[in-house]
Amino acid sequence: MKKCFLFYLLLFCHVLFAHILGPEIEGSRDISGIPNASLSSFWDANSELEQDYIIIGAGIVGLSTAIEVKLQQPEARVLVLERGILPVGASSRNAGFTCIGSFTELLMDMEEIGENEAINQMQERWRGLETLRRKMGEEAIGFAMTGNYELIGHNLAHLLDQMDRVNALLYPIFRENVFIRKDDKLEEFGFSRDYICAVVLNQFEGQLDSGMLMQALRKKAQELGITIRYGSKAERPINTPKGLEVNVCIEDRRTTFTAKVVGICINAFTSELIPEIKIVPGRAQILLTEPLNEPLKFNAPLHMGQGFWFFRPMPENRILLGGGRNLDFQGETTTKLETTPQIMGPLKKILSTIILPGENPQIERTWSGIMGFSEDRLPHIEEVPGLANVVVGFGCNGMGIARGYRTGEKTAAILIESMSRTYRAPAVLNNSVNCTD
Ligand SMILES: Cc1cc2nc3c(=O)[nH]c(=O)nc-3n(C[C@H](O)[C@H](O)[C@H](O)COP(=O)(O)OP(=O)(O)OC[C@H]3O[C@@H](n4cnc5c(N)ncnc54)[C@H](O)[C@@H]3O)c2cc1C
Repeated sequence: MKKCFLFYLLLFCHVLFAHILGPEIEGSRDISGIPNASLSSFWDANSELEQDYIIIGAGIVGLSTAIEVKLQQPEARVLVLERGILPVGASSRNAGFTCIGSFTELLMDMEEIGENEAINQMQERWRGLETLRRKMGEEAIGFAMTGNYELIGHNLAHLLDQMDRVNALLYPIFRENVFIRKDDKLEEFGFSRDYICAVVLNQFEGQLDSGMLMQALRKKAQELGITIRYGSKAERPINTPKGLEVNVCIEDRRTTFTAKVVGICINAFTSELIPEIKIVPGRAQILLTEPLNEPLKFNAPLHMGQGFWFFRPMPENRILLGGGRNLDFQGETTTKLETTPQIMGPLKKILSTIILPGENPQIERTWSGIMGFSEDRLPHIEEVPGLANVVVGFGCNGMGIARGYRTGEKTAAILIESMSRTYRAPAVLNNSVNCTD
């Protein structure tokens, strides 16, 4: 009896649905009022697409900007967009010198921007380096205060007379002589005397491991809950009534992120997104030797020729050597990540004549990276005129290790200020940075 009842019930339901809903539902093609298929689901949109802060660029400046924003506003949603699978600017491609200025470089700066400004910049870089060491921890970034030696060629020997005067100018900041003659190192390090006649130590410089620095920044960012999306080339932010839209296009598919404020930290590439801001790209090329048979005689980084050439000891008894932009300024004003014979040839020659006279070490790897140079040679942290709530932070001018973190701190401070001006922002912690210092 029960079985019979169930059978008739099922039959009744089938007939009901087939007649009342079935043909109409299956046959309907009316899609008016339904938006086109979105690339992102409800879950994506909620968890990923809507941000408080978007930072474009995951170099030293972009990551430190994101870290500083999040440290001061732990509740804020912060997303970093980086176009490369690995960063493809300068931060992970540099030489890792914790440089604040070599002797002849400082003299050149004094001529170009005046004595006071050149000294100010040296102080700024020193403070920047202190900030980086304190914030990231020296061990985590492979920092070593080794000093940095400058090899003075015969053509620049006349400048050595100015060392006492320069040291006196720097004394109020460093309370010690920054530059010290160390000519005995020429013999000790085994360099050729054919081209070099003196050695000057800057005892306030050293070196770090740029890979460790980038890892430490990423780790810190991730610990704080910042999302970093690699392979995400961002387009120019667009102001909309809902806030700022930042599009990322991959294989013709567009993903639109929104944020209340956007920081652009793409250094040499700034003009690509913000053409109204001018920055000149400057490529630097590097070579790395294979492990050498004989142990290296020097254990600190070195500069030559007003900072244009640089080399340092590397793990497993290798030498990293780079620079030479001054040989082809025009050719090196580019964002192409290539190496050229005009620079690689002289680099190889320096290796076998000055650094390892008479030897012909094998080269394991070469690469280049792109620096960004501003007209006044200072970092720029500013709001973009006509693009509300967008801030750019760029222009470490080839000294991003010393200048990068502080540039990030200052960019974060302006972003937070911009957020509070326009929106009711989460409370700012008290340790914010004064942008004018
Ligand atoms: C070969 C070389 C050697 C150097 N040696 C030293 C040194 O020894 N000591 C020192 O202090 N400084 C050195 N520098 C300079 C230093 O590396 C830079 O000053 C510093 O890294 C700049 O950092 P940044 O974050 O401003 O820029 P970058 O590191 O260039 O970061 C910008 C990032 O933005 C990304 N980006 C660009 N466009 C977009 C977009 N549309 N969307 C998303 N992402 C985008 C890029 O891929 C890049 O990763 C060297 C530079 C080079 C090239």
